[in-house]
Amino acid sequence: RHSPIAGPDAAGIRFSFELFPPRTPEGLAQLDRVVDRLAALGPEGFSVTHGAGGTTRDRTRGVVERVAARTGLPVAQHLTCIGARRAEIDDEARALRAAGIRRIVALRGDPPAGGAPHPPGGGYRHAADLVAGLMRIADFDISVAAYPEVHPEAASAAADLDNLRRKFDAGARRAITQYCFDTDTVLRFVDRARAAGIDRPIVPGIMPVSHFGRLRRFSETCGAAIPRWLAGMFEGLDADPARRAGLAAAVATEQCRRLAAAGLTDFHIYSLNRAEVSVALCRALRPERTGAGPQAA
Ligand code: FAD
Repeated sequence: RHSPIAGPDAAGIRFSFELFPPRTPEGLAQLDRVVDRLAALGPEGFSVTHGAGGTTRDRTRGVVERVAARTGLPVAQHLTCIGARRAEIDDEARALRAAGIRRIVALRGDPPAGGAPHPPGGGYRHAADLVAGLMRIADFDISVAAYPEVHPEAASAAADLDNLRRKFDAGARRAITQYCFDTDTVLRFVDRARAAGIDRPIVPGIMPVSHFGRLRRFSETCGAAIPRWLAGMFEGLDADPARRAGLAAAVATEQCRRLAAAGLTDFHIYSLNRAEVSVALCRALRPERTGAGPQAA
């Protein structure tokens, strides 16, 4: 009853959902079902990930267009530059503009294991260079990545923040954070960014945990810490998806409530082609705007 986000703040909460391009026809059918359920939650839009080195480029664009046509909502295309020639990226950007896709999440991407990060013809080296290149082609609505726990390759937290500033200076409109389960760390990061004069929107990325073992492995590569309390919560639940989903929704709800109480009311949910936890999260945060049905996807 005395929730810090009851009332007008709750109405101000907004979500976007991240999807990835499926590899199989079954995956695509599952994606359609998930998208229908997520669209019923009244999100601001969706975004679709992109394999570094252009490995999923065509599939990504296909899914962007499919979800946009299905929902009538804005869908952002992730675009990575590592391993790609500048001309390739520029062609892709022109194709996006021609297809009416204005929203881009501009990323460097991660080098493939053992692969050379930059092509012989020269590419965009960092995401800030990519943003500048894209803005030369069209007035895209560009989001970039930010790291509350500091990007693993950054020389220091200050250098990483300087990099974020360069991405904004190049034309990015907002930053979406890597997921981070320690809410104090997210809040401190936003404070540091504001103190450094960064005033554009910073949208917390929220990870609804679905499979804890996979999350733990992925977190090692992207530098996101798994707090002991979270590991303890999911211990022994590998064969119990219903209980995992319940706990995951509780964890994400608690995090969003604290962030919203601090004035951060836009969230990017790493739904990753699953609806269960995202639906529960949205119901918990703004029940009055949640029209999703009970069926599973
Ligand atoms: P950059 O901003 O270029 O930064 C990378 C590193 O280089 C940082 O350590 C930075 O501090 C450092 N750096 C930057 N400029 C300089 C400079 N001039 N001198 C020295 N150091 C510098 N990956 C995918 O492959 N596909 C996706 O679809 C995808 N989506 C994502 C969505 C979000 C919201 C987030 C947070 C991440 C996503 N990623 C994705 C992961 C991302 O590609 C990796 O985290 C990658 O390692 C860094 O990308 P970046 O855009 O932050 O790179």
